[in-house]
Amino acid sequence: MKLHEYQSKQIFSRYGIPIPRGKVASTAQEARQIAEELGVMVVVKAQVLVGGRGKAGGIRLAKDPIEAEEIAAKILAMQIKDLPVRKVLIDEAASIHSEIYLGITNDRAARRPVIMASSAGGVDIEEVARTTPERIIKVHIDPLLGLRDYQARDLAAGIDLPREHWRNFIAVAHGLWKTYTECDATLAEINPLVLTTENRLLALDGKMIIDDNALFRHPEFSEMRDLDVEAPAEVEARKYGLSYVKLDGDIGCMVNGAGLAMATMDILKLFGGNPANFLDIGGGANAERVAAALRILLSDPNVRTVLLNVFGGITRCDEVAHGIVNAMKEVKPKVPMIVRLVGTNAEEGRRILADAQMITAETLVEAAQKAVAAARGGLG
Ligand code: GDP
Ligand code: MN
Repeated sequence: MKLHEYQSKQIFSRYGIPIPRGKVASTAQEARQIAEELGVMVVVKAQVLVGGRGKAGGIRLAKDPIEAEEIAAKILAMQIKDLPVRKVLIDEAASIHSEIYLGITNDRAARRPVIMASSAGGVDIEEVARTTPERIIKVHIDPLLGLRDYQARDLAAGIDLPREHWRNFIAVAHGLWKTYTECDATLAEINPLVLTTENRLLALDGKMIIDDNALFRHPEFSEMRDLDVEAPAEVEARKYGLSYVKLDGDIGCMVNGAGLAMATMDILKLFGGNPANFLDIGGGANAERVAAALRILLSDPNVRTVLLNVFGGITRCDEVAHGIVNAMKEVKPKVPMIVRLVGTNAEEGRRILADAQMITAETLVEAAQKAVAAARGGLG
């Protein structure tokens, strides 16, 4: 889950990272009031969860509250990369001497977090990474030891930061590390971290991605979720406690258990098929949940067939079958439905489903072959 700039910066500030004074507004009038309260020149910033807002015209300076209102009205009417701007951040404008990049993310290959810094911060950091990667200094962090002072000093030296700013820079790096670990983030980034003409370090922009699997530990983040950026099917799936990821194939998969879902997708590929999604309906799939899953699958126009692969353990297969039959009465799928049921009372379950005109299979191989054939128009 991505956080907005204003949310990320509020969190940074709790961890001692200096940010500009400012507030978020949903209307141009509010923007004007905030600019009046701040009483200085402000910057009006579109709050959308995409990069490159500056280049898209979503970040503009305003010399007084009246101009702040005008600019806010314009920015609030914008769409940036197809996303509507619903809020603007009104920040005290900074007088920039230089722009630094500072970010922490997980380096999966190194199996540990990595902190990165560059003196070439600002809007073109992706370009810097592509063309002059040596200008980005990387230091890996031992997750048990945490960020050490000497590592933060290495970064400061690596980006040729003047000595007088090291103490503040190291404090910001520690603050960012604390933010990253305590918030269960997979990314915590400041770009730019500016050195102002008054010789202060200030986080002008903030970006955070929170690990979705850790959200249960942070109820306050769930309330920050911005549904504009998420696929409607994924929002719907979350409502029913389903794990759903849309893919670009044509075989809809409904499976209980993440491992079984992965195996199902693999075997479809082995037989030349292409899964339309990853979907784990979880344990104890009742009719309501199965129906929701089926609705979500069938809302994808690419889906040409549906493969249900269910292992009945504690949940009995005949119960699952009744759930599927009830769900089909509600959803009425028009594409072939192939089902493989194994486990407790599997035979009884298969009988119920065959009566409901579903194509049944006994093994995963048979199910995958039938699904691939059906997707090619050769079945059902
Ligand atoms: P992004 O384009 O979405 O990354 O948005 P940023 O918040 O990083 O802003 C982009 C650029 O706008 C920054 O790199 C700065 O150069 C500039 N900018 C942002 N805030 C201010 C400010 O308060 N004063 C000045 N002079 N420039 C700013
Ligand atoms: Mn930025």
